[in-house]
Amino acid sequence: MAGVNTNDTVVDLEQLRERVRSLMPKVVEDLKDLTRIPSVSLGSFDQTQVARSAEAVAELFAAEGMDVKVVAEGGRPAVIAHKSGPAGAPRVLMYAHHDVQPPGADADWDTPPFEPTERAGRLYGRGAADDKAGVMAHLAAVRAWGDDLPCDVTLFIEGEEEIASDSLPALLEKYADELRSDALVLADSANWAVGTPALTTTLRGTVRAVVTVRTLKHSVHSGMFGGAAPDALTTMCRLMAELHDAEGNVAVPGLDASEDTEIEYDADQLRSDAGMLPGTQLIGTGPLTSRLWLKPSITVIGIDAPGVDVASNTLTASARAKLSLRVAPSQDPQAAFDALKKHLEDAAPWGAEVNVELDELGAGFSADANGPVYEEARAAFADAWQNEPVDVGIGGSIPFVSLFAEMMPDAALLVTGVEDPDTRAHGANESLHLGEFEKVCLAETVLLQRIARRLGSE
Ligand SMILES: [Zn+2]
Repeated sequence: MAGVNTNDTVVDLEQLRERVRSLMPKVVEDLKDLTRIPSVSLGSFDQTQVARSAEAVAELFAAEGMDVKVVAEGGRPAVIAHKSGPAGAPRVLMYAHHDVQPPGADADWDTPPFEPTERAGRLYGRGAADDKAGVMAHLAAVRAWGDDLPCDVTLFIEGEEEIASDSLPALLEKYADELRSDALVLADSANWAVGTPALTTTLRGTVRAVVTVRTLKHSVHSGMFGGAAPDALTTMCRLMAELHDAEGNVAVPGLDASEDTEIEYDADQLRSDAGMLPGTQLIGTGPLTSRLWLKPSITVIGIDAPGVDVASNTLTASARAKLSLRVAPSQDPQAAFDALKKHLEDAAPWGAEVNVELDELGAGFSADANGPVYEEARAAFADAWQNEPVDVGIGGSIPFVSLFAEMMPDAALLVTGVEDPDTRAHGANESLHLGEFEKVCLAETVLLQRIARRLGSE
């Protein structure tokens, strides 16, 4: 059978499956209680709710006999909890976050965002998936093992993931000794499909840049000088056209790209998911998953120019554009910015002054998704789902993943998740597939045993 590599695992697996199944009603009840707390970390919301949610998480962990503390380093409260395994057992750090996105307009929800509601096998509510289900999956694994925990387990539940984890570096530094682990389980991503688990092994990096184009010392009448003197806005449009080739591939030399993916995104599904209009073509070449996860993309996200309603017959002297560049997972984002800057300066149309400034950089992530912990994780997924997991990427960035990777370069880093393609995290009617959630809980329970056996015996 797929993923089972020891003779006694099959028996244990069925016992664990039963044990987790029997725990699920209480796990889901506790998840509902957490979801009722509107722990929106965005500053304009009531932050006493984030504190309440940290306390509620801490209470749940303490009830499992864990050593628990609520900590903060100038940001929102996080929860650290620890429970020891047998002497010499491997150390596993499990991450999730207890803060949530703002709910948006109540009218967009079929049931109120902070009144968790079960419908057709799904649990609806803000945070029911992202990421309070991640919190509960970790807790379910600790619960399933009770006093026989096979690994040393530390739970780290952040309180400000949805506002970019600003104080996370300080927390990771301050508690470095107790957080350091052999394996990390970061449960804040998604599975590939209902029935198909996934490990997220790549994240693209991000660069934001501001481009300024100047052609004239001051604006002048378009009737007097148009036709001979170039305006900055038209010049900017020509410059932006240099970012892509005719097929829509990014045309900046020096940016890394790869087409090495094992799965493909159905083109019609992608068109539908992205809300593309019937006549709009997909851009770029190569597998869609490579375009989304492994190749760079460039988007013009803003332009400063006279507004349409106030525009006059004038040659504009200067224009600014803000660009968002998504960088291949393993490329240094600074090197990507340097390549973008050189390309735009070299391409300056009509001798215009082109100035490119860095606005923001974020590192990507590319796991070396091999080795004993990855093998055991894939086996644990196969045990739980009775289906082999796939490696997936994410086109965006998750800032905390690269922070953990920097802080613990020797640890195996597993980016897992509770979401499925219908979860709608951050949107209205966010929901958790309860059947898949049970498998997530089982996979984590099995994983602890597999890591203990594998790393303990090496
Ligand atoms: Zn999340």
